[in-house]
Amino acid sequence: MEHGLSCPDNEERKEMAENSREERRQAVIEVLNEARKMELHAIVQYMNQHYGLDDMDYGELAGKIKLIAIDEMKHAEDFAERIKELGGEPTTDRAAEVVPGQAVEKIFKFDSGLEDDTIDRYSKFEAVCRENGDTITAKLFERIIDEEQIHLNYFDDIDDHIEKLGKNFLARKAGTPSDTGLTILGFVAQQGGE
Ligand code: FE
Ligand code: FE
Repeated sequence: MEHGLSCPDNEERKEMAENSREERRQAVIEVLNEARKMELHAIVQYMNQHYGLDDMDYGELAGKIKLIAIDEMKHAEDFAERIKELGGEPTTDRAAEVVPGQAVEKIFKFDSGLEDDTIDRYSKFEAVCRENGDTITAKLFERIIDEEQIHLNYFDDIDDHIEKLGKNFLARKAGTPSDTGLTILGFVAQQGGE
């Protein structure tokens, strides 16, 4: 050819398409694993706050955070399942170190920042999925963003009450039950054991 470039034949064309498909798949797996790391961090961070608050006798606040930690476990599983469907390997890494033993006045501001950051990053991850033609994963991010927004609203609300009402608000939460109203059937309970 006079311009010195050869036109790709059909085989080469197919190979190029395969390569770019593989690259797109890898890009989606990468953001899913980034998100999974964030969930694994949130789970352990929130569990730590759950039993910390329970120990400080803020039962109701402890119970709510326990439920939120369970939501994050579901998110971590949702991301892992999608990674497996795409042929990837779900990470077991956490995005950050857990801060243990936070004061009640710190917890809700901290968590609302965490959720805010998560929504921001998941929105970018959702865009990466769409750029790479993966609508299914984009929709998964969309659904999880909605759930993180519910977490954010709760954390913001409590933080606001603590800021405005301080000790009065906390006094009303002291001694409240930590019951979540949930019976979580683990393996043993499902087998009919105790
Ligand atoms: Fe989450
Ligand atoms: Fe969340």
